[in-house]
Amino acid sequence: MGKVAINIATGSLQTEDIIVGIDLGTTNSLVAMVRKDSMQPIALRETDGLTLVPSIVHFDEYGGTTVGTPAREKLLQEPERTIYSVKRLMGKSYKDVKDHAGVFAYNIIDDDTDALVKIQVGQKFYTPIELSSYILKELKKRAEHILKANISKAVITVPAYFNDAQRQATRDAGRLAGLDVLRIINEPTAASLAYGIGAKHHEEKTIAVYDLGGGTFDVSILNITNGIFEVLSTNGDTYLGGDDLDNAIVQYWKTEAGLGESADKMKVQALRVLAEEAKKHLSDNEVFDGSVNGVAVSLTRAQFNEVITPLVDRTITACANALRDAGITKDKIDAVVMVGGSTRVPLVKQRVKEFFGREVHDELNPDEVVALGAAVQADILAGNNTEMLLLDVTPLSLGIETMGGLMDVLIPRNSKIPNKAGRQYTTQKDGQSGMRISVFQGERDLVKDNRKLAEFNLTGIPGMPAGLPKVEVNFLIDADGILKVSATELRSGVAQTVEVKPQYGLTDEQVEQMLLDSLTHAKEDIGTRALVEATTEAQQMLDTTERFIEKYRADLTEEEAATTRAHMQLLRDAITAKDKDKIQQETESLNEVSRPYAERVMEGALKDAMKGKKVI
Ligand code: ADP
Ligand code: MG
Repeated sequence: MGKVAINIATGSLQTEDIIVGIDLGTTNSLVAMVRKDSMQPIALRETDGLTLVPSIVHFDEYGGTTVGTPAREKLLQEPERTIYSVKRLMGKSYKDVKDHAGVFAYNIIDDDTDALVKIQVGQKFYTPIELSSYILKELKKRAEHILKANISKAVITVPAYFNDAQRQATRDAGRLAGLDVLRIINEPTAASLAYGIGAKHHEEKTIAVYDLGGGTFDVSILNITNGIFEVLSTNGDTYLGGDDLDNAIVQYWKTEAGLGESADKMKVQALRVLAEEAKKHLSDNEVFDGSVNGVAVSLTRAQFNEVITPLVDRTITACANALRDAGITKDKIDAVVMVGGSTRVPLVKQRVKEFFGREVHDELNPDEVVALGAAVQADILAGNNTEMLLLDVTPLSLGIETMGGLMDVLIPRNSKIPNKAGRQYTTQKDGQSGMRISVFQGERDLVKDNRKLAEFNLTGIPGMPAGLPKVEVNFLIDADGILKVSATELRSGVAQTVEVKPQYGLTDEQVEQMLLDSLTHAKEDIGTRALVEATTEAQQMLDTTERFIEKYRADLTEEEAATTRAHMQLLRDAITAKDKDKIQQETESLNEVSRPYAERVMEGALKDAMKGKKVI
């Protein structure tokens, strides 16, 4: 039944779709695919022999773009027109990045602190999504050139700590580049897939993925059971990577080679380029000799190790923290996977081996392994690989705000993706025609401590007494972790749906903080929840009583009315005092006081009704 397509650009026949895997990195990006013949993933290699494309975009005066190595060469001459590290800006607001503004040599716009950042180049403004799409377009073009086929489908990887906003931004960048992004997967998940760890049915593994790239470091502890990849913890430093190793060398040379702080900016830049060269050279050699502006500089492996030790120490501390957060000890780790170009540094490898007390997986190219894993996932999606299962999980709980500002969780943290959940709610007031649905993400009991993702109104509910409408709220998370929320009033069929596209992203520190807070405040939260629940119940009791005595004033004795009012006041006082026990006690007494006449009146009303009169 298959369709045959002809690629107009290449003239080649296509009988089926190729789905590629893309590692959209902070420093380097690349494309990989699974070979039909060997069924092994390979990184696509251009005629220049290279697989990595530097994630750098250069704009000329007319807005024309170049991406990759030629763009990197412009870093020195035209820093304000050469955009690097755009991944750091994905799904972020200016507020999120302002503390690190010094990292960027180009112009990041600060208009509205809560809105997504924009980058100014000349007279034009670009979003990180657009900038990433230029990189993806280049990757697509390269892949099409190499494979002589049209490429329109891809799996793209993101760090495990990326939140919804950042994942959505990545997906949008793909779409903008003309790619149908079939799935967004976590980088450590991809790395482990590349090694084929834990992806077989009925296999359980706990692994550590250590990823030291160009500008970022993260370590993730994953549990893989029956093909479900669960991120137990992630830790790291989004401003620690190979660039810092280069800088450590520059600092050393500045003092040792006597270049001094006075060396002009150009010289320092040239020194930095040489430092990276030295670092790479020292991954396979003991000594580096070079020169900059006629000054000879050298570096031995031992000197290099010494200057980078404090940086490597920090990554090891993060590994210990990740284990602690995952609640496991080193001996529970079945495998350690090395990811990122900087794990080629011998000291890094040695220290990671020492820390985990075991050999590490470094057989695959560390700067290609994520793309290779994405290709494996692509192959699974293409239906070519039925051996492996693959699922992901939600990093934080998702829920809606209910009465009293409480968080009602519909999909708990670490639930499998895709996923769906639904729950019914009702109205608080008679004749209420609208209902506000506020969607939150986080682990705390009160929504004010969590993060609001979206808010919408379900309107047009036909007038009904309080408690009668049945509003069903449904959460649907698709395979990329993107949430769709819908609300339907079941009696009338009135419905409303929103796709949750958060306004701006959380930093990884914030996500971490949210998880930490939920632990440290757990006790306090239980107390607050109890108080909120008691208050809500009391408030309802007050409302009902108020309505009742207004409506049936004539049927109540003077004394009954007075006692009721007095008890209502006592209950209000207890609410003001935020005394949970007192509130519960006073709610109960108010109930006691009103019960006798309520029963009497209702009985009477019932008799009237039997006589054919309307009750309400
Ligand atoms: P990212 O994931 O941030 O895009 P990569 O995984 O491509 O980054 O890693 C890039 C970093 O790896 C750069 O800092 C680069 O200098 C470093 N690197 C590449 N090759 C080597 C090597 N042979 N020895 C040491 N560092 C290397
Ligand atoms: Mg990477």
